[in-house]
Amino acid sequence: MCQSGPVLTSIRSPAGSALTIVDTTYMSCNLIAMTHDNDPIANVSVLSTGSVRIRPEHVGPTRKNTYVWLATSRRWTAPRPINVYVIEHRDGLVLFDTGQDRASVTDPDYFPGGVNGVIYDRLARFEIGREETLSRGLATLGHRPSDVHTAVVSHLHQDHMGGLPELAGAEIVVSEEEWRSMRRPLAAARGFLRDHIELPGLRWRRVTPEPLDDVAPFADGHDLFGDGSLVLLPTPGHTPGSLSMLVRRPGRAPLLLVGDLTYDAGLLAAGEIPGVGNKSQLRRAVADVNALRDRLPGLTVLAAHDPAAAELLASADSVAA
Ligand SMILES: [Zn+2]
Repeated sequence: MCQSGPVLTSIRSPAGSALTIVDTTYMSCNLIAMTHDNDPIANVSVLSTGSVRIRPEHVGPTRKNTYVWLATSRRWTAPRPINVYVIEHRDGLVLFDTGQDRASVTDPDYFPGGVNGVIYDRLARFEIGREETLSRGLATLGHRPSDVHTAVVSHLHQDHMGGLPELAGAEIVVSEEEWRSMRRPLAAARGFLRDHIELPGLRWRRVTPEPLDDVAPFADGHDLFGDGSLVLLPTPGHTPGSLSMLVRRPGRAPLLLVGDLTYDAGLLAAGEIPGVGNKSQLRRAVADVNALRDRLPGLTVLAAHDPAAAELLASADSVAA
């Protein structure tokens, strides 16, 4: 995105009928802006860095205690995506979540050992092929990791921050609450692998939601570029500082990228919560999202591991708001 490139333009010579080909260099993002008029967002895409199987109780709903199902469940779901959302915004390329690092399946020391290792092993099974890295995924969309202007991470679990080693040129946005939670004791037991997060050379921006008046029932949020098109909303529950991102595009359905607030947009719409996380926070966040949908007809909820997400995004793009 926003790479310079030659544009061949045909013009008629004032002297006669001969056509002259002019080789002019334009910024491709200017062309995007021209074609989308007052919409700063040219395109929203999704790519997946491999796949993950989780326990059906993890997807929920379940009445079982998390530790009970984690210790006893014998079933895995079918493979689910590990989604990265790619937003071509006039001010720069934005990612929502960064996927899972392929090193997590090739490096035996990526995950902690001991009791924590057993928990990680019981929680999820990952498969990440050679072609399923963030860089390769971005390349299929015509982008390089160095094109990324801003990467928002919904939360700091390893399947959302795995692209960080490739994003030294980007600003990494996380909630202040999530950052503080990561710094508290027993981080690894709570899913925060600090050695893979606090990498040298990364530019972090920790945001605290501020009062906003156009995203009710949410009272607070963070307007990423100050134009109202990308607004971060606090949806705690999966982790204390989990964020969602509202994407508003004139003439097209609004999107809400929710990370791991749900694993199934249909369950969220029915008011159901997943089997992991703080249940009262999850219930509140799910109710807030459904109330937001009442105010924003056509709001499409896109989760990180919902097998239906790519199809939901495609239909949201084809339906005018
Ligand atoms: Zn996840």
